[in-house]
Amino acid sequence: MTGAEGAAGAVTRAGAEGALSTGTLIVGAGQAGSQLALSLRQGGYESPVLLVGDEPHLPYQRPPLSKAYLAGDVEPDRLLLRGESAYQRIDVQVLTGDPVVTVDPDAGVARTAAGRTIVFDHLALTLGGRPRELSVPGMVTDTGFRVQGIHYLRSLDDARGLRERLADARRVVVIGGGFIGLEFAAGARKAGAEVTVVEAAGRLMGRAVPEEVSEFYLGAHERRGTRVLLGTGLSGIRSSDGKVTGVELADGGMLDADLVLVGVGLVPETDLAMEAGLACEGGIIVDERSATSHPRVVAAGDCTVVHRTDGPPVRHESVNNAVEQAKAAAATILGEPAPERVEPWFWSDQYDLKLQMVGRPGPGDELQIEGDLAEESFVLVHRVGDRVTAVLTVNSPRRFMAARRDLQSFAATLA
Ligand SMILES: Cc1cc2nc3c(=O)[nH]c(=O)nc-3n(C[C@H](O)[C@H](O)[C@H](O)COP(=O)(O)OP(=O)(O)OC[C@H]3O[C@@H](n4cnc5c(N)ncnc54)[C@H](O)[C@@H]3O)c2cc1C
Repeated sequence: MTGAEGAAGAVTRAGAEGALSTGTLIVGAGQAGSQLALSLRQGGYESPVLLVGDEPHLPYQRPPLSKAYLAGDVEPDRLLLRGESAYQRIDVQVLTGDPVVTVDPDAGVARTAAGRTIVFDHLALTLGGRPRELSVPGMVTDTGFRVQGIHYLRSLDDARGLRERLADARRVVVIGGGFIGLEFAAGARKAGAEVTVVEAAGRLMGRAVPEEVSEFYLGAHERRGTRVLLGTGLSGIRSSDGKVTGVELADGGMLDADLVLVGVGLVPETDLAMEAGLACEGGIIVDERSATSHPRVVAAGDCTVVHRTDGPPVRHESVNNAVEQAKAAAATILGEPAPERVEPWFWSDQYDLKLQMVGRPGPGDELQIEGDLAEESFVLVHRVGDRVTAVLTVNSPRRFMAARRDLQSFAATLA
């Protein structure tokens, strides 16, 4: 995939200085940024489009990083969302490896770390987020470097490091029992490591799934040989010669480790937006059309929080959300009506268990389980009265597709 670096044509590498002028500047070359560029062209946008990323790669898919890529089943070239020729075909210039360091929406000017000045009519921020850092004693060496063997997982470069390290790891500790931590735990078990998951809350994936599903996944991981410690805090990291050797638990316990994966959540990337004076609170604030507080700026994906007209603010960290918000952002730039509202959906693969969710679950929903948990294939339906609000399936892809269709048809009747 690094073949994209420095390639000719529509892709430009960092280093070449000079001013650029564009119709729309998209900052953040990931899932939302790539989709936004495509949607602008599909919608008939004729001005220049410049997509700028800080990573040295063309936009790629992140979900396989904790799944097929980690398992060695897919190589980086297969992760690209679109090849270089696709950007050339739609006449989108992509600049990789050069972070945008300031934006001035009033003046319509941005600057990059390599010293480029970019003049724009419209600005789109699709900046994603960064892993929430763990702050316990022992994370860094006396000389100020992160202790070797402690990893986060957000980017391809993170995943590459982890995959290499996993090949020799014998004792793995995963801090955080959310989706990424559990997907990684499954991959590490499959690679033959002894794995312990340490979760501070009382259940797994607690922010995203009902208790019944947390319970099911606890059993499923334990049956496959992973040790799971719930309600367990950390007090520090142990290391020797700059390499991790263990994790100290708040209850006085100690886990030996030669690899630690920290998966304790995402911090939406808002620094650029805040410095530019845009309204931010737990994300760049956007409406359902991906409009920000500045008329010249839209934003989409993991860096945003949506202030809706019909409910409390929501944040979704998913491919589906990044794609749909990017389409809405393109429509806003084009001055067109918002695209049809799509019911949010998400998936997670852990071992041979495919979890899929669609809809808008609420805290007061009535829950009904269909199928057999012992068979590891079931459907959980959320209802308010006789209306289905969300459906979660495990190893039931057909039921998931049907539920997605039904929920989408119902949403269309509300539009
Ligand atoms: C390991 C992993 C597994 C996942 N699994 C799933 C899954 O199974 N299902 C699912 O739906 N979702 C999954 N997700 C989440 C999904 O990948 C994200 O929600 C999606 O990538 C968000 O897209 P985005 O464009 O907002 O952000 P990103 O794809 O992260 O793109 C943002 C880009 O902007 C860049 N950037 C930031 N600041 C600057 C700057 N100043 N200048 C230039 N560039 C900048 C970032 O480096 C990044 O390249 C997973 C994520 C990870 C990390």
